[in-house]
Amino acid sequence: MAHRPRILITNDDGISARGIRELSEALDDLGECWVVAPDSEQSAVSHALTLERPLRLSQQGERRFSVNGTPTDCVTLAMSCLLKDRAPDLVVSGINRGANMGVDVHYSGTVSAAFEGVILGRPAIAVSQVVGNGVSLDVARKVAREITLWVLEHGLPPETLLNVNVPPVREPRGLRLTRLGVRRYTEGVLRQEDPRGRTIYWIGGGEPVWERIPGTDFNEVGNGWISVTPLHLDMTSRNFLAEMESNPPSWVREGGDG
Ligand code: MN
Repeated sequence: MAHRPRILITNDDGISARGIRELSEALDDLGECWVVAPDSEQSAVSHALTLERPLRLSQQGERRFSVNGTPTDCVTLAMSCLLKDRAPDLVVSGINRGANMGVDVHYSGTVSAAFEGVILGRPAIAVSQVVGNGVSLDVARKVAREITLWVLEHGLPPETLLNVNVPPVREPRGLRLTRLGVRRYTEGVLRQEDPRGRTIYWIGGGEPVWERIPGTDFNEVGNGWISVTPLHLDMTSRNFLAEMESNPPSWVREGGDG
């Protein structure tokens, strides 16, 4: 790489989270790192973009900014304002506090921030640390650094990011390429009464239970491996498209509604 690579670092836990601090430390000497992250916790905001109120960029240090918005807002502002002169060579999102595996990637602000980089034409990596008893981020830091170096050297295909999940163990068994797993929701919504007798609802909170399908992120991480799942932006179901094309449903037609 001719120039010193430029790396945009973001997250969804907020700029003061430990994960993004450790991530930026881990990547610091690999290039010109820019940290642009939400000023508050934004987990599970998915790919939300703020359109109905003004956004502010607040400088927190050298090449370090917070945004009063979502992870996607951060990547958008970073690319179109702060890094307008030269787009980053890579977007790295994390280190998220908690897993982002299986269908959960659709809710994840961490993964969506990386996808925003992909939408804007940059390779991206999302890194998440599964929460466990007294786990340090040393393993996640090391693997984030290793994969960052590899992507800087090799690049990624268009519309593709790498989603990394690190198990909560001191010494993982290794690193495995995976596909998204299947999670079973055990307790979807908790219904309670508030102190004034009105009904309230809490979404989530149950322990994740997943199908034990070999080769999936849930399964391998559950067995003590680091998982790396390549994710693609284009969600077109090519199989079903081909099936429908070869045997078109009755509503497929040429012309108007006649
Ligand atoms: Mn988070």
